[in-house]
Amino acid sequence: MSIFKIDTLILGSGVAGLTIAIKTAKALPNKKIFVVTKAEANESNTKYAQGGIASVWNKLDSFKDHINDTMIAGDNLNNPKIVKMVIEEAPKCMKQLISWGADFDYTKSGELDLGKEGGHSANRILHHKDITGFEVEKTLLEQVEALSNITLLPYHFAIDLITDHHINGKGYNKNAINCYGAYVLNEKTKKIDTYLATSIVLATGGTGQVYAATTNPVVATGDGIAMAYRAKAKVEDMEFVQFHPTSLYQPGVSPAYLISEAVRGFGAYLRNKKGERFMLEVDERAELAPRDIVARAIDSELIKSGDQYVYLDCTHLDMEAFIKHFPNISEKCKSIGIDVATQYIPVVPAAHYMMGGVVVDSKGYSSIKNLFACGECSRTGLHGANRLASNSLLEALVFGSEIATEIANNRKDLIFDKNLDIPEWNEEGTMEPKEKVLISHNRKTIQNIMTDLVAIVRSDERLEKALDHLNYLYQDTEKAYAKSKLSPQICELRNLNAISYLIVKESIKRKINKGAFYSLDNL
Ligand SMILES: Cc1cc2nc3c(=O)[nH]c(=O)nc-3n(C[C@H](O)[C@H](O)[C@H](O)COP(=O)(O)OP(=O)(O)OC[C@H]3O[C@@H](n4cnc5c(N)ncnc54)[C@H](O)[C@@H]3O)c2cc1C
Repeated sequence: MSIFKIDTLILGSGVAGLTIAIKTAKALPNKKIFVVTKAEANESNTKYAQGGIASVWNKLDSFKDHINDTMIAGDNLNNPKIVKMVIEEAPKCMKQLISWGADFDYTKSGELDLGKEGGHSANRILHHKDITGFEVEKTLLEQVEALSNITLLPYHFAIDLITDHHINGKGYNKNAINCYGAYVLNEKTKKIDTYLATSIVLATGGTGQVYAATTNPVVATGDGIAMAYRAKAKVEDMEFVQFHPTSLYQPGVSPAYLISEAVRGFGAYLRNKKGERFMLEVDERAELAPRDIVARAIDSELIKSGDQYVYLDCTHLDMEAFIKHFPNISEKCKSIGIDVATQYIPVVPAAHYMMGGVVVDSKGYSSIKNLFACGECSRTGLHGANRLASNSLLEALVFGSEIATEIANNRKDLIFDKNLDIPEWNEEGTMEPKEKVLISHNRKTIQNIMTDLVAIVRSDERLEKALDHLNYLYQDTEKAYAKSKLSPQICELRNLNAISYLIVKESIKRKINKGAFYSLDNL
């Protein structure tokens, strides 16, 4: 087991982690920045983002309108100061991203081709075809490669944050918990190393994998939020889970393939199996109503009809333009026998985005000293009860820049206290689990509990039942965790358990329906 002493430790290599790494490394060329990430460097929610990034870009739009749209989507649970800050900083951050090499689509006249998505009152989505996230991730990784003071460590799994309680050994000092780094499992050596840093950033992304049907890749197990929760950081708004209305209906395929909101922005209609445009009855914005409204309308349509899916109809659209804008979606549909020019696409809602997370202030600081959180694992106050489409990559870019600036301006002279006696990882469990099926079984069980009992529409009875099941699984998982040699699988299971518990607990507490949260008992 090794001990690494560095300046900035970043957990996660999506848009949030990489933005911070690049900006900090450029500002502080003599400082060491490590990015620890649990899979391939590019594996992340970021890589799969399709629609784009929202930013006011021309005179046909205004900050006021983008702010207004964000507040409406968030059901006014947003923090207005944060909303204003993020939206006003957006163009600057987009210019920075473009200067780093990100390639967005342009019109024939050389203007940025701005798309429109649900809940937006203007065209303001910068995009790279229908694979914006892939382009962003690629650009950021190229920048990282060129910066010699960044060390990127794929297949390194962060297990837990190191805080005062590891030093004191007597429980937490509630008044001033400090973070000193993290214990990280190197998947090659199978050793758990100690990483110590003066600034630590959680950028571990979302939680979609707590549900059976999700658009999130397998890495989205809420590890950072669970670590922060165990370390007693403030975690809030976990009841607000966004379900994307339109994932491709393909039973048994996980993660679900997303049919971007931008397709509805382009003019596609939702139809039930009878061919009716049911959204016209639900909301004056029809298919372009915010996601929570559209997802609930589809859910209700499916409950009424007993059908497994509804349809997305693109057949009336300009196909040449459609295929140019959505080449990958068109190709994906074709690969499963659907010609979007003549056939409807079967779609269902799937868990997509976590609005809650580690509470941070306007500079990205969590409630634990030296610990920042950024991106989907954080709760900044931007999204309120429901995220507006294409505001999440933006949030990570803006807060990523703020955090890097804070580290460069105010934390560069910090030095690690040599007198601190930080213990190495105490490897209690020694047993190699004989059958990993016990872990995968519990993972599937959690996903099924959450899908059946804690999805788009909730009720007190279902939530209480979910809590009972989760309590049992918690005991079971903790026993296995204590005696096992640690693996990413057992750690993820433990984290999924913690995240599910937080979603259920916060849902039970919420007595007023807001944004993405909807309980039959609050009507
Ligand atoms: C299919 C899809 C489409 C989307 N489309 C859009 C869109 O068009 N516009 C938009 O704004 N948003 C979109 N989103 C949401 C957006 O992509 C995410 O919210 C955003 O990318 C999150 O970035 P992040 O850096 O916080 O996390 P991620 O990009 O998920 O990165 C998290 C990183 O942390 C690593 N990690 C996790 N746990 C650990 C651990 N224990 N140890 C070490 N490393 C760890 C992961 O491997 C990963 O590298 C979409 C999401 C999905 C899934």
